[in-house]
Amino acid sequence: MKDIKSLSKEELKEYIESIGEKGFRADQIFRWLHYDTVTSFDEMTNLSKALREKLKTEAYIADAKIEDCQMSKTDGTRKYLFRFRDDCMAESVFMKYSYGNSVCISSQVGCRMGCSFCASTLDGLERNLAASEMLEQIYAIKRDTGEDISHIVVMGTGEPMDNYDNLLRFLKLINHKEGQNLSHRNITVSTCGIVPKILTLAEEKLQITLAISLHAPNQEKREKLMPVAKAYNINELMDACRTYFDKTGRRISFEYSLIKGENDSEEDAKELSELVRSINCHVNLIPVNPIKERNYRESDKMGVLAFKNSLERNGINVTIRREIGRDIDGACGQLRHRNLSDKRSEG
Ligand code: SAH
Repeated sequence: MKDIKSLSKEELKEYIESIGEKGFRADQIFRWLHYDTVTSFDEMTNLSKALREKLKTEAYIADAKIEDCQMSKTDGTRKYLFRFRDDCMAESVFMKYSYGNSVCISSQVGCRMGCSFCASTLDGLERNLAASEMLEQIYAIKRDTGEDISHIVVMGTGEPMDNYDNLLRFLKLINHKEGQNLSHRNITVSTCGIVPKILTLAEEKLQITLAISLHAPNQEKREKLMPVAKAYNINELMDACRTYFDKTGRRISFEYSLIKGENDSEEDAKELSELVRSINCHVNLIPVNPIKERNYRESDKMGVLAFKNSLERNGINVTIRREIGRDIDGACGQLRHRNLSDKRSEG
């Protein structure tokens, strides 16, 4: 069966013509899929019944069923657990900001990167998500909330650069002017630092923001927290960031989770400033969200502020990420992991 929602407009046209239909049918179908975001062929009322029936036998429209939804009582955040066709599950988060609504999507079912502080990787990688399944997380949330979505962050479960082809397909489809027409400038893709893919993406010259999960000021500390650092060291990563900026003109965003006693000292702040000083960038600090499987603790408020001040004194652009949705298992992968664990203990 064809995953019709992952096809580019050109591929859809080719397919439609290959089954003996006129090309303009592809325009109609594309619009139903990506503008109206329908979930069945029967809703495509301007197609003939015969064509709808034929499509049903050859293709499917990927959908995401809401398995669970937790709503924050304090800030309008909603955390969704979605179930796909094959019963695999992924999490997405809907967040309200002053500049608009944002959705954080997953790029894989599970993750194989093994970052030591992250819940998403605890159960390993199950599979990649198709472009259609990344889109559907956004479409399903739009349908469920009835709200517009102006910003997207690919920062949920999974490593987007470990699912590069589908990521690129997704980025092109969500931006398509006959679909959601969402500006690349409002999309952030976060990576743990797979250098060759960062360089490949730079060549695409998309206007998206690249976020790098840095979390440490030097190679030694980074390797301890993030196994990926053993494959691509911190200097290579910084060079790739410079290249990314040169090719795209887009400022890099560094993510830095503060873990008490691990990476949050004055010395760490100084070293971090040195490391990123020559890169056109912005540093986003977030106190680590503790997961019960690991005994990391978050830096206290004073520690976070001191770290921020130290970076600022060294001339680095820095913000502390607003913490939202903590009352609803906000950390990456916690909802799915808990759901899997509950199922296991139920036997
Ligand atoms: N694999 C990608 C995107 C998913 S993780 C990446 O590594 O960037 C999204 C962000 O959340 C990353 O910066 C990640 O390091 C961070 N993160 C994961 N677990 C966290 C936790 N328990 N507390 C704080 N940040 C966490």
